[in-house]
This record gives sequence, structure tokens and C-alpha cells, in this order.
Amino acid sequence: MSQGELAKKAGIHLQSLGKIELGKTARLSTKTTTGLSRALQIPQEYLEAVCKGVSVASVQQMKICPHCWVPGTEAEAIWLNPRSKYCFACGMKLSARCLSCNGPILSLKFRFCPLCGVPYKAPEKLARMSVK
Ligand SMILES: [Zn+2]
Ligand SMILES: [Zn+2]
Repeated sequence: MSQGELAKKAGIHLQSLGKIELGKTARLSTKTTTGLSRALQIPQEYLEAVCKGVSVASVQQMKICPHCWVPGTEAEAIWLNPRSKYCFACGMKLSARCLSCNGPILSLKFRFCPLCGVPYKAPEKLARMSVK
């Protein structure tokens, strides 16, 4: 996708998109972030962090229980706790990565991994196997 296409899709000016990319925009208007996140299908928080120069890794503390998580819903707060390694409900190892290709989980709105096409949610059989 070219910059022009992206700007058009996000409903913002090409010029402001250029500024964002150069890190010249410290603060984005809500309209811009909403438009961009919709166009790119990435979370708004992510965009805001990129603009503030915060490393993406520190924002994306996305961790889910591949067994209990329901696609399209937010992660349970307790899964996101940095000290949580296993699911409080079923004991499965929490994961921030695709179970199949180990690529990062890009959005909890996605049902499938865009990199390998395997569902983020573990199939029932696999989930039962990995529970201790
Ligand atoms: Zn669980
Ligand atoms: Zn994958």
C-alpha cells in the first residue's frame, strides 16, 4: 500500500501522514489515529506509542491464554500482568505469539494469524494436552 492510498483510506492528508512517518508529529488527533488504525488494522494505542517514540515492545504486552481467550475480545487483565505466565483459569501457558509460526499476535481482533493462517485460539485438543 502506498502512502497516498493509506492516507486516502485513513481519511487524512498525505502531508500529515508524511509527518507521522518522520516522527514530526508528537500528538495525533483522535480522528487521525482512528482513521489510521482502521486503515492499517492496528490498535490505536500502538500508533500513539509509535508517535511518542515509545518502543512498540513495551506497548504490546499482549498475552493471552490460547485456550480461554475468545477472539475479538480484550485479554484478561491478569494475563497481561508481567508476572503471569500461566492462565489463572486453565493452567495453560500464556502466549503473546502465534502457536504455529511463533509470529507476534498483532491484534486481538484477529481470529487468525496473518502470517501463517492458523487460528490464534488453540484447538480444544491441543489446549488439553498442554495443561499440566
Ligand atoms: Zn486458560
Ligand atoms: Zn502464525
